[in-house]
Amino acid sequence: MKLKLYWQDLLDLVYPPLCMACDQRLFREEDQLCLACSFDLPRTDFEKFLENPVYRSFIGRFPLEYAAAWLHFEKGGKVQNLMHQFKYKDQPQLAVHLGRMLGEEWREASICKNIDLIIPVPLHPRKQRKRGYNQAAKIGEGLAEALDKPLVLDQLKRQVYRRSQTREHRFNRWSQVKSVFVLEKPEALKAKHILLIDDVVTTGATLEACLQAMTDIPEAKFSVLTLARA
Ligand SMILES: [Zn+2]
Repeated sequence: MKLKLYWQDLLDLVYPPLCMACDQRLFREEDQLCLACSFDLPRTDFEKFLENPVYRSFIGRFPLEYAAAWLHFEKGGKVQNLMHQFKYKDQPQLAVHLGRMLGEEWREASICKNIDLIIPVPLHPRKQRKRGYNQAAKIGEGLAEALDKPLVLDQLKRQVYRRSQTREHRFNRWSQVKSVFVLEKPEALKAKHILLIDDVVTTGATLEACLQAMTDIPEAKFSVLTLARA
Protein backbone atom coordinates (compact mmCIF):
# COMPACT_ATOMS: atom_id res chain seq x y z
CA MET A 1 0.00 0.00 0.00
CA LYS A 2 2.76 2.37 1.01
CA LEU A 3 4.75 1.50 -2.07
CA LYS A 4 1.74 2.02 -4.30
CA LEU A 5 1.19 5.48 -2.85
CA TYR A 6 4.84 6.29 -3.35
CA TRP A 7 4.69 5.41 -7.04
CA GLN A 8 1.47 7.37 -7.38
CA ASP A 9 3.18 10.38 -5.83
CA LEU A 10 6.05 10.04 -8.24
CA LEU A 11 3.71 9.72 -11.17
CA ASP A 12 1.72 12.74 -9.98
CA LEU A 13 4.93 14.72 -9.83
CA VAL A 14 5.71 14.01 -13.48
CA TYR A 15 2.12 14.16 -14.74
CA PRO A 16 0.14 16.14 -12.19
CA PRO A 17 -3.55 15.26 -12.53
CA LEU A 18 -5.50 18.36 -13.47
CA CYS A 19 -9.14 19.28 -13.11
CA MET A 20 -10.85 18.67 -16.47
CA ALA A 21 -12.88 21.84 -16.10
CA CYS A 22 -10.42 24.43 -14.76
CA ASP A 23 -6.90 22.91 -15.15
CA GLN A 24 -6.06 23.34 -11.47
CA ARG A 25 -4.03 20.58 -9.84
CA LEU A 26 -6.18 17.93 -8.22
CA PHE A 27 -5.77 16.70 -4.67
CA ARG A 28 -5.32 12.97 -4.24
CA GLU A 29 -8.92 12.45 -3.11
CA GLU A 30 -10.28 14.31 -6.13
CA ASP A 31 -11.01 12.51 -9.40
CA GLN A 32 -11.44 14.21 -12.80
CA LEU A 33 -12.91 17.39 -11.28
CA CYS A 34 -11.76 19.57 -8.41
CA LEU A 35 -14.19 20.01 -5.53
CA ALA A 36 -14.91 23.64 -6.47
CA CYS A 37 -15.82 22.73 -10.06
CA SER A 38 -17.94 19.81 -8.88
CA PHE A 39 -19.96 22.24 -6.77
CA ASP A 40 -19.99 24.95 -9.42
CA LEU A 41 -21.39 22.95 -12.34
CA PRO A 42 -24.57 24.76 -13.42
CA ARG A 43 -27.35 22.36 -12.39
CA THR A 44 -30.76 22.75 -14.03
CA ASP A 45 -32.78 21.26 -11.13
CA PHE A 46 -35.07 19.88 -13.86
CA GLU A 47 -35.55 16.67 -11.87
CA LYS A 48 -37.81 18.64 -9.53
CA PHE A 49 -40.20 19.74 -12.28
CA LEU A 50 -41.99 17.26 -14.51
CA GLU A 51 -42.86 19.94 -17.07
CA ASN A 52 -39.35 21.34 -17.39
CA PRO A 53 -38.10 22.78 -20.73
CA VAL A 54 -36.73 19.43 -21.99
CA TYR A 55 -39.99 17.64 -21.22
CA ARG A 56 -42.00 20.43 -22.82
CA SER A 57 -39.90 20.27 -26.00
CA PHE A 58 -41.11 16.69 -26.59
CA ILE A 59 -44.81 17.41 -26.13
CA GLY A 60 -46.61 16.61 -29.39
CA ARG A 61 -43.53 14.81 -30.75
CA PHE A 62 -43.26 11.73 -28.60
CA PRO A 63 -45.07 10.66 -25.43
CA LEU A 64 -42.59 10.51 -22.54
CA GLU A 65 -42.88 9.70 -18.86
CA TYR A 66 -40.01 12.00 -17.86
CA ALA A 67 -37.42 14.10 -19.63
CA ALA A 68 -34.61 16.20 -18.19
CA ALA A 69 -31.05 17.47 -18.54
CA TRP A 70 -28.66 17.66 -15.59
CA LEU A 71 -26.58 20.74 -16.51
CA HIS A 72 -26.85 23.97 -18.47
CA PHE A 73 -24.50 24.19 -21.43
CA GLU A 74 -23.07 27.69 -21.77
CA LYS A 75 -20.67 28.81 -24.47
CA GLY A 76 -17.19 29.12 -22.97
CA GLY A 77 -18.39 27.60 -19.70
CA LYS A 78 -17.19 24.62 -17.70
CA VAL A 79 -19.71 22.22 -19.19
CA GLN A 80 -18.46 23.03 -22.67
CA ASN A 81 -14.88 22.37 -21.48
CA LEU A 82 -15.88 19.01 -20.08
CA MET A 83 -17.79 17.97 -23.17
CA HIS A 84 -14.87 18.96 -25.36
CA GLN A 85 -12.58 16.76 -23.22
CA PHE A 86 -14.68 13.64 -23.49
CA LYS A 87 -15.64 14.13 -27.13
CA TYR A 88 -12.34 15.13 -28.70
CA LYS A 89 -9.55 14.55 -26.16
CA ASP A 90 -9.85 10.84 -25.53
CA GLN A 91 -11.19 11.10 -21.99
CA PRO A 92 -13.82 8.36 -21.73
CA GLN A 93 -13.29 8.08 -17.96
CA LEU A 94 -14.52 11.69 -17.61
CA ALA A 95 -17.83 10.77 -19.25
CA VAL A 96 -18.14 7.78 -16.89
CA HIS A 97 -17.36 10.05 -13.92
CA LEU A 98 -20.01 12.61 -14.91
CA GLY A 99 -22.60 9.88 -15.47
CA ARG A 100 -21.84 8.54 -12.00
CA MET A 101 -22.13 12.02 -10.45
CA LEU A 102 -25.50 12.52 -12.14
CA GLY A 103 -26.70 9.13 -10.90
CA GLU A 104 -25.56 9.80 -7.34
CA GLU A 105 -27.28 13.21 -7.28
CA TRP A 106 -30.53 12.10 -8.92
CA ARG A 107 -30.83 8.62 -7.43
CA GLU A 108 -34.08 9.55 -5.66
CA ALA A 109 -35.55 11.52 -8.59
CA SER A 110 -38.49 9.92 -10.42
CA ILE A 111 -36.65 9.96 -13.76
CA CYS A 112 -33.93 7.72 -12.31
CA LYS A 113 -35.93 5.74 -9.77
CA ASN A 114 -38.80 4.52 -11.96
CA ILE A 115 -36.86 3.24 -14.97
CA ASP A 116 -35.92 -0.38 -15.70
CA LEU A 117 -32.92 0.04 -17.97
CA ILE A 118 -30.69 2.55 -19.73
CA ILE A 119 -30.02 2.79 -23.47
CA PRO A 120 -27.51 5.32 -24.83
CA VAL A 121 -27.92 7.03 -28.21
CA PRO A 122 -25.65 5.07 -30.56
CA LEU A 123 -22.84 6.98 -32.22
CA HIS A 124 -22.30 6.99 -35.97
CA PRO A 125 -20.05 3.91 -36.58
CA ARG A 126 -17.40 5.98 -38.35
CA LYS A 127 -17.25 8.49 -35.49
CA GLN A 128 -17.05 5.71 -32.95
CA ARG A 129 -14.11 4.12 -34.79
CA LYS A 130 -12.35 7.47 -34.85
CA ARG A 131 -13.07 8.35 -31.22
CA GLY A 132 -12.66 4.81 -29.91
CA TYR A 133 -15.76 4.98 -27.74
CA ASN A 134 -19.29 6.33 -27.62
CA GLN A 135 -19.46 9.12 -25.05
CA ALA A 136 -23.19 8.55 -24.46
CA ALA A 137 -22.45 4.90 -23.63
CA LYS A 138 -19.70 6.02 -21.24
CA ILE A 139 -22.10 8.42 -19.47
CA GLY A 140 -24.55 5.51 -19.36
CA GLU A 141 -21.90 3.30 -17.80
CA GLY A 142 -21.43 5.67 -14.85
CA LEU A 143 -25.15 6.31 -14.53
CA ALA A 144 -26.00 2.59 -14.62
CA GLU A 145 -23.41 1.91 -11.95
CA ALA A 146 -24.70 4.65 -9.63
CA LEU A 147 -28.35 3.67 -10.11
CA ASP A 148 -27.71 -0.07 -10.15
CA LYS A 149 -29.72 -0.46 -13.38
CA PRO A 150 -28.73 -2.40 -16.48
CA LEU A 151 -27.09 -0.62 -19.41
CA VAL A 152 -28.30 -2.11 -22.69
CA LEU A 153 -25.90 -1.61 -25.58
CA ASP A 154 -26.86 -4.34 -28.03
CA GLN A 155 -30.44 -3.37 -28.87
CA LEU A 156 -30.51 0.08 -30.44
CA LYS A 157 -28.12 0.38 -33.39
CA ARG A 158 -27.24 3.04 -35.87
CA GLN A 159 -27.04 1.91 -39.45
CA VAL A 160 -25.58 3.83 -42.31
CA TYR A 161 -26.89 3.19 -45.75
CA ARG A 162 -26.78 4.79 -49.13
CA ARG A 163 -30.08 5.38 -50.81
CA SER A 164 -30.40 4.53 -54.43
CA GLN A 165 -31.29 7.45 -56.62
CA THR A 166 -34.98 8.04 -56.16
CA ARG A 167 -37.08 10.87 -57.46
CA GLU A 168 -37.20 12.43 -54.03
CA HIS A 169 -33.46 12.48 -53.70
CA ARG A 170 -32.43 13.52 -57.18
CA PHE A 171 -33.10 17.05 -56.04
CA ASN A 172 -31.46 16.69 -52.70
CA ARG A 173 -28.08 15.04 -53.07
CA TRP A 174 -27.05 15.76 -49.48
CA SER A 175 -29.63 13.46 -48.00
CA GLN A 176 -28.51 10.46 -50.03
CA VAL A 177 -26.36 9.18 -47.21
CA LYS A 178 -28.51 8.67 -44.18
CA SER A 179 -28.07 6.98 -40.88
CA VAL A 180 -31.04 5.39 -39.22
CA PHE A 181 -31.66 3.84 -35.85
CA VAL A 182 -32.86 0.28 -35.74
CA LEU A 183 -33.88 -1.95 -32.90
CA GLU A 184 -32.60 -5.52 -32.82
CA LYS A 185 -35.35 -7.35 -30.91
CA PRO A 186 -38.33 -5.25 -29.80
CA GLU A 187 -39.78 -8.24 -27.89
CA ALA A 188 -36.73 -8.38 -25.64
CA LEU A 189 -37.64 -5.00 -24.13
CA LYS A 190 -41.31 -5.73 -23.67
CA ALA A 191 -43.08 -3.72 -20.92
CA LYS A 192 -39.86 -2.03 -19.84
CA HIS A 193 -39.46 1.60 -18.85
CA ILE A 194 -36.50 2.71 -20.97
CA LEU A 195 -34.28 5.65 -20.13
CA LEU A 196 -32.68 6.95 -23.32
CA ILE A 197 -29.56 8.98 -22.63
CA ASP A 198 -27.23 11.26 -24.55
CA ASP A 199 -24.55 13.83 -23.79
CA VAL A 200 -26.46 16.91 -24.89
CA VAL A 201 -29.93 17.90 -26.07
CA THR A 202 -30.44 20.82 -28.44
CA THR A 203 -33.40 20.36 -30.78
CA GLY A 204 -34.01 16.80 -29.60
CA ALA A 205 -34.10 15.51 -33.20
CA THR A 206 -31.61 12.66 -32.59
CA LEU A 207 -33.36 11.55 -29.42
CA GLU A 208 -36.70 11.67 -31.23
CA ALA A 209 -35.33 9.51 -34.07
CA CYS A 210 -34.15 6.95 -31.49
CA LEU A 211 -37.53 6.95 -29.77
CA GLN A 212 -39.31 6.47 -33.11
CA ALA A 213 -37.10 3.42 -33.75
CA MET A 214 -38.30 1.90 -30.47
CA THR A 215 -42.06 2.29 -30.97
CA ASP A 216 -42.42 -1.41 -31.84
CA ILE A 217 -41.63 -2.47 -28.29
CA PRO A 218 -44.89 -3.75 -26.79
CA GLU A 219 -46.13 -1.85 -23.70
CA ALA A 220 -42.88 0.07 -23.25
CA LYS A 221 -42.52 3.41 -21.49
CA PHE A 222 -39.88 5.98 -22.33
CA SER A 223 -37.94 8.72 -20.59
CA VAL A 224 -35.09 10.89 -21.82
CA LEU A 225 -32.08 12.19 -19.87
CA THR A 226 -29.03 14.11 -21.06
CA LEU A 227 -25.94 15.38 -19.31
CA ALA A 228 -26.54 18.91 -20.60
CA ARG A 229 -29.01 21.10 -22.43
CA ALA A 230 -27.73 23.64 -24.94
ZN1 LIG B 1 -11.76 22.61 -11.32
